[in-house]
Amino acid sequence: MAKIGFISLGCAKNQVDCERMMYRVQEAGHTVCAAVAGCDVVVINTCGFIDSAKAEAIDSILQTAALKDQGLVGKILVTGCLSQRYQEEILKEMPEVDGILGTGSYTEIVPAIENLLKETTVSEFGSIDTPEQETGRILTTPEHYAYLKIAEGCDNRCAYCIIPYLRGKYRSRPLDNVLYEARMLADSGVKELIVVAQDTSRYGTDFPGHKRLLPELLRQLCRIDGFHWIRVHYVYPDEIDDELIDVIASEPKIVKYLDIPIQHCNSDILKRMNRRGDRAFLEALFAKLRQRIPGLVLRTSIITGLPGEGEAEFAELCEFLREQRLERAGAFPFSPEEGTPAAKMEYPDASVAQARAEMVETIQSGIMEDHNSAMIGKTVEVLVDGYDEEYGQYFGRTYADSPEVDGKVWIAAEEPVSEGSFVMVRIDGILDGDLSGYIVEE
Ligand code: SF4
Repeated sequence: MAKIGFISLGCAKNQVDCERMMYRVQEAGHTVCAAVAGCDVVVINTCGFIDSAKAEAIDSILQTAALKDQGLVGKILVTGCLSQRYQEEILKEMPEVDGILGTGSYTEIVPAIENLLKETTVSEFGSIDTPEQETGRILTTPEHYAYLKIAEGCDNRCAYCIIPYLRGKYRSRPLDNVLYEARMLADSGVKELIVVAQDTSRYGTDFPGHKRLLPELLRQLCRIDGFHWIRVHYVYPDEIDDELIDVIASEPKIVKYLDIPIQHCNSDILKRMNRRGDRAFLEALFAKLRQRIPGLVLRTSIITGLPGEGEAEFAELCEFLREQRLERAGAFPFSPEEGTPAAKMEYPDASVAQARAEMVETIQSGIMEDHNSAMIGKTVEVLVDGYDEEYGQYFGRTYADSPEVDGKVWIAAEEPVSEGSFVMVRIDGILDGDLSGYIVEE
C-alpha cells in the first residue's frame, strides 16, 4: 500500500472533492499523508478559472516537482479545473506531471494512483455532466466546521465565466444523500455547516417539477441535532424567493449572513454578462432582505473592468456600494478567459481593472471599519477556531464571519477555551480589520 499526499487549491467545492478523493484512497487501503514529502504519489487538486488561480496551480505543481527532483516525492497526479481545462497542454508542457484526471473522473482516483505506481501514464477525462457519486470524506477543515456541497456544475452561463465548461450542467445531489451526509457531519462533531455549490439557490430545480428545494433542505438541516450554525454561500440574486427569506429569518440555527455574488450593478453590463436582474432589482432585493432579516450581514463579490465598464459605469458601481453598504465584499479585476464570450468583447486594460478593484477594496474597508466600530461594547457569540501561538491569543468568528474569507475575533481569556466551543465575547477593540474582546459569562 502506498503513501498518498494531497494538495487542494481553489474554492470550498474543490476542497470537498479532494476530501472525497482522500476517503476513496484510504478505503482502498493506502495511507493518506498530511505532508507531501515522502509520498509515493502527490495529488494536486487544482483550480483554473482565472489567471491568478492558474498561476497558483502551476506554482504548486513546480514546487512539488522540485521535491520530486530531490527524490522526496514519487509521482505527481493533477486533478481539478486546471487539468480539465488544459488537458493536452499539461502533459505536453509539464513533463513533471505523471498523470491527469478531469473533473468528471474523481471516482477514478484509486485506479489512477495504482496505474501511476505501475509506471503507467494516466490521462482520464470522463463526462463533466456525470452525476455526483456519493462517498465518504476525510475532513480537511477544523473538526467544528465543514462544507456541505449540495450540487455540482452551473447553468447560469455568465459571459465571463469558464466554470460551466469545466464543471458541466447543474446537478443537484438527491436530498436524502445530502441529509445523510449532514447527519454524519453532525455526528462527527461539526457545529457550523456551510452550504456550498456553484449556485446553492438553484438546488432542486433540475429535479422533476423543477422546484427550488433550498428552503426545504435548510429546514431539514435545522432539524439535525448538533449543528449550531448553518451558513449559506453562493446564492444567485434572482433565485431568492419569499420562502427562502422566511426560512433564513425564522430558523435560529441559520446565521443571518448571506453570500450573494452580484459582480456588478450596472444594468447594461449585467445584461451583457448574461446575468439576470438589473440595478433596480438588486436595490429592491437588498432592501427587502434587510427589512425581513434583522441583523443580516451581506457578502458579495465584484468584478471590475468587465466589458462595457467605462468611467461612468465604474463611478456608478462605487456609488451603489457606498449606498448599499454591503458588509463584506471581495473585488476581482476582470480576467478574460479564453473560451468565454466576454473574452471576445472589448474591455478596459488590466491595469485599469486592477486599479478599480483596489478602489472597491478601499470603499469596502471603510464600510467594514464602520461595521466593526459599531460592534465595540457589544457582547456577541463567538465560535472559537483556535489559538495563535505567535499572538498568544485565542481567535474565533461571529456569525458575520465565514471561515477563510472574512475577519476574526481575537479573544483574551483567563482560562483555556476549547476549539469548537461557543463563548460570549465583549468586543473592546479593532485590530487590523479584525475585532478583539474578552470572554464574559452568558
Ligand atoms: S453563477 Fe455564473 S459566475 Fe457563478 S459559476 Fe455559474 S456561470 Fe460561473
